[in-house]
Amino acid sequence: MAEIKVKGTDEKLRIENIYCIGRNYLEHIKEFDTPEKKLEAPKEPMVFLKPNTAAITADYISIPVLKGKKISDNLQNEVELVVVIGKDGVSIPKENAMEYVYGYAVGIDFTLRDVQAALKKEGMPWALSKGFLMSAPVSEIVKKEEVKNAENLCIRLKLNGEIKQDANTSMMIFKLPYLIHYISSIFGLKKGDMIFTGTPAGITKLNSGDKIEAEIETVGKLNVMVV
Ligand code: MG
Repeated sequence: MAEIKVKGTDEKLRIENIYCIGRNYLEHIKEFDTPEKKLEAPKEPMVFLKPNTAAITADYISIPVLKGKKISDNLQNEVELVVVIGKDGVSIPKENAMEYVYGYAVGIDFTLRDVQAALKKEGMPWALSKGFLMSAPVSEIVKKEEVKNAENLCIRLKLNGEIKQDANTSMMIFKLPYLIHYISSIFGLKKGDMIFTGTPAGITKLNSGDKIEAEIETVGKLNVMVV
């Protein structure tokens, strides 16, 4: 079970469902362009889920091993603003969506890119590539009152001290109120659910020993080592 500390309190919040948004920053979508194919920005949010064991957070990440062998050799980073839901709701109107936010965290949507590409090619669900154990580590949760405008924050990820991802949450294609409206209308949302809101450009193949420092202005930091 994943429980995440709330900054400045003794409280811990139990994480329930983990919703993730794919392709929510234009520059990131372009990273997948090939000479034959250009990806279009989605017309509606692209939603996928991770099990809550993905949010078990430590200071390290490793590729799952099956039958004595790592299931991937292309682990990649995706720093994301995480919205933590504070109360239950269905079909939440955009206008008061932000009332349902408990707080925010820095998250990394770790991805096994080779596994994902193979599954996509076969038209199969990509759960394995995104939902593996500890694939969604998050920082301490900051209550929303401490974040002035979650839709205008610097979001950054350094790999071994070098900046790889550097953007602003204002660059999201689908904004937070719409994401809350959309997900709550289809799935319903409940207290303890998290929404990973998509990654900006700068995804990189990671290697053992790499040090990742993810940071979002006023929200916090998250350091993870690849083992
Ligand atoms: Mg992502």
